[in-house]
Amino acid sequence: MTYLFDPPPVVSVPVVGTDARFPVRRVFCVGRNYRDHAIEMGHDPDREPPFFFTKDARALVTDGGPFPLPRATGEVHHEVELVVALRAGGSDVAAADALGLVHGYAVGIDLTRRSLQADAKKAGRPWDTAKSFDHSGPISAIAPASAVGHPASGAIWLDVDGARRQTGDLAQMIWSVPELIAHLSGLFRLEAGDLVFTGTPAGVGPVMVGQTMRCGVEGVGELTVPVV
Ligand code: MN
Repeated sequence: MTYLFDPPPVVSVPVVGTDARFPVRRVFCVGRNYRDHAIEMGHDPDREPPFFFTKDARALVTDGGPFPLPRATGEVHHEVELVVALRAGGSDVAAADALGLVHGYAVGIDLTRRSLQADAKKAGRPWDTAKSFDHSGPISAIAPASAVGHPASGAIWLDVDGARRQTGDLAQMIWSVPELIAHLSGLFRLEAGDLVFTGTPAGVGPVMVGQTMRCGVEGVGELTVPVV
């Protein structure tokens, strides 16, 4: 078989402790999965089942790359998130079986054009321009679960130029990682290579050119991203 032109390269993420990289298939994201963030965005965290959107895999920034602030936008907000990396998939996976699909965990930032998202919400339009724009998903190396286990608690935080902006604990997630995988697998057939951004704690805010974001998840890793 031949192609008309070179097919796009496989997007991949480094894995701690090996030269083998994690090839990315799809990137799923969860909205409002921490109580304090749901409240800061003006929603009632107790009444909502989890909801999902996607980011294009080509929007990921791997290997310590910088985040170029996009044109055609107002405020771009940081959202630090625990990212789950799947090595196997399935449909209608039970929560009790979900962690068996997980290869490991990373630290990611779900960068969001907040002003475009607010416009989209008001107009009932899709979120793609707000959430799936180029370079909108910086991600650390993946820490294998065989080394770090399956963290269900631990600090999650983000600093901008050394000032703490976001802070929370994985235990504050409204929907746990196994519950998220179970819900998602009822909506999509999950496959090896899928990533899940699991939501952000309170404290989201804008970034500007020249600043540096530094964030981490206890027991998983850290990520430093200059805004250029
Ligand atoms: Mn998010």
